[in-house]
Amino acid sequence: MEMWARLKLLLSQPLTGHVSDRHRRRVQAGSKLLSAMILLQGCTWGTYYFVKDNAFLMALCLAIGLVGVAGLAMTRAGWIRASAIMSVHALLVLIGVFCYFDVPLSGVPRSVHMHLLSLAAASILVFRSEGSYLRTGLPLACFATCLVYAGSNVGSSQLHLLPPVEVREIGVWINHGLAFLTLAMVLGVMSADGAQRSAIEVGLRHAVAQGHFVLHYQPQVRGDDSVTGSEALLRWEHPERGLIYPDKFIQLAEETGLIVPIGDWVLRKACAQLATWSKDPCSAHLTLAVNVSASQFRQPDFVAQVIDIVDRSGAKPSLLKLELTESMLAKDIDDVIRKMSALRAYGISLSLDDFGTGYSSLNYLKHLPLDQLKIDRSFVRDLLTDPNDMTIVRTLIQLSQSMNLTLIAEGVETTEQRDWLRNNDCQDYQGYLFSKPLPLQQFDALVAQHHRAPLPEGGPDADPAAQARTVLDKHLV
Ligand code: C2E
Ligand code: MG
Ligand code: MG
Repeated sequence: MEMWARLKLLLSQPLTGHVSDRHRRRVQAGSKLLSAMILLQGCTWGTYYFVKDNAFLMALCLAIGLVGVAGLAMTRAGWIRASAIMSVHALLVLIGVFCYFDVPLSGVPRSVHMHLLSLAAASILVFRSEGSYLRTGLPLACFATCLVYAGSNVGSSQLHLLPPVEVREIGVWINHGLAFLTLAMVLGVMSADGAQRSAIEVGLRHAVAQGHFVLHYQPQVRGDDSVTGSEALLRWEHPERGLIYPDKFIQLAEETGLIVPIGDWVLRKACAQLATWSKDPCSAHLTLAVNVSASQFRQPDFVAQVIDIVDRSGAKPSLLKLELTESMLAKDIDDVIRKMSALRAYGISLSLDDFGTGYSSLNYLKHLPLDQLKIDRSFVRDLLTDPNDMTIVRTLIQLSQSMNLTLIAEGVETTEQRDWLRNNDCQDYQGYLFSKPLPLQQFDALVAQHHRAPLPEGGPDADPAAQARTVLDKHLV
């Protein structure tokens, strides 16, 4: 895979643990505002030290200004996580160096170190669901540096490099004021988030107890138009807010452990549906893909639970497909392989969802007992306009062929994308071009319609009746 494509993937990773769109917008706006403040301060003080002929402090301030420019540019490009990681590291170093020259004088205390306090608070907020280094290590490093400068006189003895006293007298007010303002902003976002998260969590617990969930089914299509199965996609039926989509609650469900009972419900419902479909010749062949979250998969009794649910439902194991994600492969790969092998030995198929987004090592991949790779929709979206995405998809197609795995592309929205995929040997698709996820009744109607009039050789283009039916399908969507 090309270096730039890999880098772009890395940079565009979203921040984890930021559940609502409102929160994400707040974090994005906050990060733009902070970058603009950093830019403004860096440039203003840089100009001042230029006039005062202090080249060292001028360079330091301009470097801080540059961090602001880079932060703004990256946030605008949507690389919020990368921008946050870059800004916090760079500011910790630059502010740390600046503090060394902000030596306390009699009557003028040190003040630049106060920015480290707000930097620590901002990192706690932004990286709260990241790994332990970003979540704990980085804020601790900011606190520790702040503490060292707050509690000691450590600093440069080169008087000509220090900021002039009159500036430092004003600086004490400006630095404390800005640091308190940033702290207040961070605490404001934290408390709004806390309230929102606990409201969602209470609602979710209630929904689990009352079974306020429903599955929608998105067709998976082979070749031109034949529905081979579907993916079960969860929706929360909120009594007041209506249907809530999984991106608003799955992550919180994972963090609170509620994903285990929710996942259990999804699996029971899906298997019961497979058993129902098996009684009707129109739908007896349909496979059903179920998403499994990482913490659900890590449960010690996951395999036994799945087998028990399938057994009791009477569903054919070979029609059930579990969609795993690359994040599951990060920990204890031997246990993962053991579980996957046991599920496959029972007859269940395994598909690797969102493939390409998680940098799973190809070494791992060849040891995994998989049946299918599912190309992530982010690659399909820009397939025809972004040469990098085209290269990535080509590589994934070759990879699946060399590993003898079936391949399905998700997020297929246009005939041009479908045609490109078909011409490049990818024959299975899922996406809005065929249908959005549908409530059960509409999905059943779509399948029945396809069953009544099977497609002729050559697909819908070759047959006017089939063309009419495709138009009808679109109305069902
Ligand atoms: P996913 O497994 O990658 O599911 C595919 C998502 O892509 C679905 O979003 C689907 O509606 C959307 N999609 C399909 N075709 C297109 C298209 O052509 N264009 C665009 N723009 N989008 C398309 P949905 O239903 O909102 O689900 C989002 C994610 O939530 C899923 O991503 C999956 O990771 C998670 N999820 C859904 N149901 C469950 C579940 O029962 N358990 C768990 N653990 N996660 C679930
Ligand atoms: Mg999926
Ligand atoms: Mg997916």
